[in-house]
Amino acid sequence: MAVMIGLEIHVQLNTESKLFCSDSSDLRGKRQNTNTCPICLGFPGSKPVLNKKALDLGMLISLALNCEISKKCFFSRKTYFYPDMSKNFQITQYEEPLSTGGVLTINGAKIRIRRVHIEEDPAKLVHVGGDITTAKYVLIDYNRSGIPLAEIVTEPDFESPKQARLFLDKLLSILEHLGAYDSGKEASIRVDANISFDGGERVEVKNITGFENVEKALNFEVIRQKGLARMQVKVERETRHFDAEKGNTVGLRKKEFEEDYGYIFDPDLPVIAVSDEWLAQVKRNMPELPDQRTRRFISEYKLPEYAAGVIVYTDKYLADFFEDCCKLYNKPDRVANWTTNYLLKSLNWRSEKIRNSKVKAGTFVELLKLIDAKQITERYAKELIKTYVDTGTDPRELIKHEKLLISESALKKAVEEVLKENKAAVEDFKAGKGGALQFLIGKVLALTNKQADPNLIRKALMASLK
Ligand code: ADP
Ligand code: MG
Repeated sequence: MAVMIGLEIHVQLNTESKLFCSDSSDLRGKRQNTNTCPICLGFPGSKPVLNKKALDLGMLISLALNCEISKKCFFSRKTYFYPDMSKNFQITQYEEPLSTGGVLTINGAKIRIRRVHIEEDPAKLVHVGGDITTAKYVLIDYNRSGIPLAEIVTEPDFESPKQARLFLDKLLSILEHLGAYDSGKEASIRVDANISFDGGERVEVKNITGFENVEKALNFEVIRQKGLARMQVKVERETRHFDAEKGNTVGLRKKEFEEDYGYIFDPDLPVIAVSDEWLAQVKRNMPELPDQRTRRFISEYKLPEYAAGVIVYTDKYLADFFEDCCKLYNKPDRVANWTTNYLLKSLNWRSEKIRNSKVKAGTFVELLKLIDAKQITERYAKELIKTYVDTGTDPRELIKHEKLLISESALKKAVEEVLKENKAAVEDFKAGKGGALQFLIGKVLALTNKQADPNLIRKALMASLK
């Protein structure tokens, strides 16, 4: 069966103020309904004033997605009656969006971008005593209303939930590199995922937060729609909700079409003419994008293509971390290897991103230096990294506090064996050659497989060599 998936992604833009008023767009720590004014509450007579920064960011996103920016665009009112929108319409773009006709490549597959437009976020509904289908009642927080969003709409070009997920990961990395989106501000990205089978009607799963959930919701729909097909039940055009706790989707409403919203030109806002100068200025502000950065990592740090891609597309902050590490420790291949394998594994296991984790370049490279100095084995370091990611403690400190994993007598035996097998190094040591002791410590570490404290090994060796 052929599956078709298209995404609509709503990204909170990284502006200081809201889209049409001067209220802050940073909602962290704000009491409900205190970050509002007559404009974002839609009082009669209030007039919206467009935030140019939101358009600039929308243009950057458009260019990064290879879209054609419209010479002229305007805002329209999307009319609907719902408590999250006190003025009964949302200001958005419909007839003439900011840009159209882009493309983003995912592992060689071209995903077409239909459009990018700017719109205001509605208020946040808080469902009390249940979710959207079961809540006893609903509270409204208007702090969010009027927050600037870019909506990115793809063509239905995805062939699997996994591919949609990879697209979203890459898109996020692009948005972060552009500075268009800042997850640190608890900003939101919400996805509407559309899915259909074999030319059937599409189902739209609305308002999913978290890319993992997008993939889960789509996987659930694949199974559900396959089941319906087997029973020869036709899928109806429908809007559904993803329940992240149960991992399923439930029907919300049927047969909803964009035209039903009765879009109408908003006469309170000007038609926007995008001049060549404006466009040129935005282009000048275009930073290095993930694809370029990946190519630079390959040429500058001599990374394999795969590792470079994992580092840059996992997220911008991981790429920044990698470069910080390389400044402190000039072995990019080792940093890349440990980052893409063991560090990412530990972070993923904790569902953490590097940015909100305790991992710092300065302490991370110490782990690699300990291996180089043969103070710990690679094998042991793979264990130690878990504690390091948990605590953020300097690995040099961590090994001080590690308990001895082997008994004193076992250590003694290992030391004796190493001395017997490495007579040349013992001679070197006696002749005062600096590296010999390190070499012998390394041998004992390897022999004891796990770990004895390197300091204790050193002591035991010194005692025997006297
Ligand atoms: P509208 O929202 O104006 O009705 P569309 O229905 O054409 O616009 O598209 C909305 C979203 O649904 C887009 O992301 C598009 O890729 C996706 N989509 C459209 N048709 C299908 C389909 N047959 N299967 C899956 N997704 C689809
Ligand atoms: Mg839509």
